[in-house]
Amino acid sequence: MNLITDAWIPIRRKSGKVERIAPCQITEGEGEDVITVLAAPRPDFNAALIHFLIGLLQTTFAPKNPREWRKWFQQPPGTEELREAFEPIAYAFEMDGDGPRFMQDLLLENEVKALPPKKQEERIRPVYELLIGAPTGKTLDDNTDHFVKRGEIKQLCPVCAALALLTLQINAPSGGQGHRTGLRGGGPMSTLLLADTLWLTCWSNTLERQTFLALCGNREKTQESDRFPWLSQTRTSEHGKMTTPEETHPDQIFWSMPRRIRLIMEMQDKQDICDLCGMSDRIMVSHFMSKNLGVNYEGSWMHPLSPYFIDKDGTPAAIHPQPGGIGYRHWLGLVQSDQGNKGKRQPASVIEHFILERRRDLRMWTFGYDMDDMKARCWYDSAMPLVLADDSIRKFYEFHTAALVNSAQYVSRQTRIQIKRAFFKPGTDVKGDLSFVESRFWQETEGDFFDYLSKLRDALNIGEDVVPILEGWHKRLARMSETIFNDVSQTGAFDAADPKRIALAWRDLQNSIHSRKLCEQLGLPAKK
Ligand SMILES: [Zn+2]
Repeated sequence: MNLITDAWIPIRRKSGKVERIAPCQITEGEGEDVITVLAAPRPDFNAALIHFLIGLLQTTFAPKNPREWRKWFQQPPGTEELREAFEPIAYAFEMDGDGPRFMQDLLLENEVKALPPKKQEERIRPVYELLIGAPTGKTLDDNTDHFVKRGEIKQLCPVCAALALLTLQINAPSGGQGHRTGLRGGGPMSTLLLADTLWLTCWSNTLERQTFLALCGNREKTQESDRFPWLSQTRTSEHGKMTTPEETHPDQIFWSMPRRIRLIMEMQDKQDICDLCGMSDRIMVSHFMSKNLGVNYEGSWMHPLSPYFIDKDGTPAAIHPQPGGIGYRHWLGLVQSDQGNKGKRQPASVIEHFILERRRDLRMWTFGYDMDDMKARCWYDSAMPLVLADDSIRKFYEFHTAALVNSAQYVSRQTRIQIKRAFFKPGTDVKGDLSFVESRFWQETEGDFFDYLSKLRDALNIGEDVVPILEGWHKRLARMSETIFNDVSQTGAFDAADPKRIALAWRDLQNSIHSRKLCEQLGLPAKK
């Protein structure tokens, strides 16, 4: 299978029809036939596929300038144009065969075959271990194999094996001693522009070539293996050897290979069924070879699809999803940058570039694993509208937007604190039990937040006073806080509650949601 020339990418058309296409067919079809989304059997596969497609465009078809970007945004290129662009690198995208294989270690098979039989067995792993969240020793012991059930996946078709491999190399969680994580650390968060068609989604996240090359990496590196590391002997990481951006070409950002893996492709006598997608094929993958000490990515890597925290020394660290999901509470840092005492939270390059240079009404797609070291706790996947303002008002707009988010942060925290005071004796450790309070607060105010952003932008555009909008938001937050407090007190979930303690907590909650501090945060005159 070749990932450039074969039809392997599962997609859905506007009509609902699902099929597989080759990458160059991404713009094929009009009207009801237009391709809207990816349709892989797992959400993390779709996420990996969008990385693949954006990476492919970024590597082979990046616009020379903003004019060229606009041209293809308005009128997508044809299949032939894309085929011509992709074909020169097709040789590096073979999944099978004796030579270089996509994202697979070139020499691992020879290395494993040279080992005594007992040692060989250790290097050969069952295919379900390619899937993030697959039961390993620890999850099997804890009985927490909720992503992939034990014994469920025994063999994968070549397409699912390719998707699993791609997903693993992109997200590479820490996998035990010497198993390297990706260049953004294990299980990173990605944020990207989401449009109504698959082409527009991909193209909106493709940077002008020079902008991309300037992110990080060494553009003087001209060997093909500096872009596609599987084309030559792996830069392994024995004796602490690292791979920094200076040592590879910027294109490797999309084609990194932290894990040393080689799939074992088995040709069967007859068609067999894939345990993941249910499709039949004569080639099945039930095992793969694996060895630790693959490429160890260190240094200031900057991936265009990742938000970063930049510390005071200028060292970037990719953001990772945390328990509780992703929503408008993360607006600061994901959509607009946020300078704090310890450093700066900075949106992904594609988001920042789009807001500054391209500005269209699109949504932001955010996804990633919440990893607890080797264990996948959760897969987060969400989309939110991007309400963007023109240059002339952006400074004021961003200032007020930050106030809306920070005030919600303050009120949600106060609500949790006072509910804890009201219903639990002092000193009780209930942190986890009360996380639902803040989750509910953010979830139920999310729709309103985007309405308020639109109102704010409209008012600023025509030079109207924004105070009534900020007051409206303040009221919304106060009402939400009171509703949650009342609901908790009425559920009777917490017995032996002391009426006096509840009354005191209610009073303090009222004080804090009408406090001078909160009004100042919102930029409102303090109430008497
Ligand atoms: Zn399959």
